[in-house]
Amino acid sequence: MSKTHLGHVARKRFGQNFLHDTHVIDQIVAAINPQPGQALIEIGPGLAALTEPVADQAGHLQVVELDRDLADRLEHHPFLSSKLTVHRGDALKTDFKEFYNGQKLRVFGNLPYNISTPLMFHLLSQLEIIEDMHFMLQKEVVDRLAAEPGNKTYGRISVSVQQCCEVIPVLEVPPGAFNPPPKVDSAVVRLVPYADPPNPVHCRKTLHSICLTAFNQRRKTIRNTMKTILTEADFVTLNIDPNARPETLSVADYCRIANWHYEQTEK
Ligand code: SAM
Repeated sequence: MSKTHLGHVARKRFGQNFLHDTHVIDQIVAAINPQPGQALIEIGPGLAALTEPVADQAGHLQVVELDRDLADRLEHHPFLSSKLTVHRGDALKTDFKEFYNGQKLRVFGNLPYNISTPLMFHLLSQLEIIEDMHFMLQKEVVDRLAAEPGNKTYGRISVSVQQCCEVIPVLEVPPGAFNPPPKVDSAVVRLVPYADPPNPVHCRKTLHSICLTAFNQRRKTIRNTMKTILTEADFVTLNIDPNARPETLSVADYCRIANWHYEQTEK
């Protein structure tokens, strides 16, 4: 077990890797650019490495922390507590609409890596109330979020997230910036929901299930992976090469397939 400089024993089960590199912290806060009056929400404030500078700039923020000891510390913090509203609990089970009072939310966090992907999808299901998101994730996850078709990291998560958000990698962060250091490289990404998505879909769940089916068998042709969903004639209508591999189809292609499937099954 490793003790941080603030005397807290990092809990592995809560994915606790605390940021201590002030240069990295400054860069993340500059990327978030918090302003007074904004609806800022931090997931997993921990020992307040990001919380403190954000609170200094914005005056107030709301935080969601699962570890009771850390939530207690924040609530009793001598000069931070007045600038915080602390929500104790699991961000995965949090209804972020409860934080919405007409002003869109700016969500950020150095996320616990064990739950970062489900947490991101949980937030993507509430996008209409979100202004933007800044997350520290495993670098490998950020690579997948930002990957273009044809790239070996391009997959389900790339299509699902790029359909609804602009994905902007911000910064790479080495393990030494954390205490304890994680075993992998990390990176910060900015996700900005599209007000007017370039590839609108009737139903995001349909897109997710189409992507799941396609990328489960990456080595097969799209004709094979989609054989229960698309006929040869459908491929012509959709202007998609049935011999293409799933990783070569664009986000627009997947959205056309999803909308087509939705229209056929809803009829
Ligand atoms: N923000 C701090 C930093 O940058 O040093 C801590 C980041 S640490 C990687 C992840 C934080 O998320 C920890 O404080 C942990 O207790 C908290 N956490 C873990 N699982 C959580 C969950 N399901 N909901 C809310 N917070 C969670």
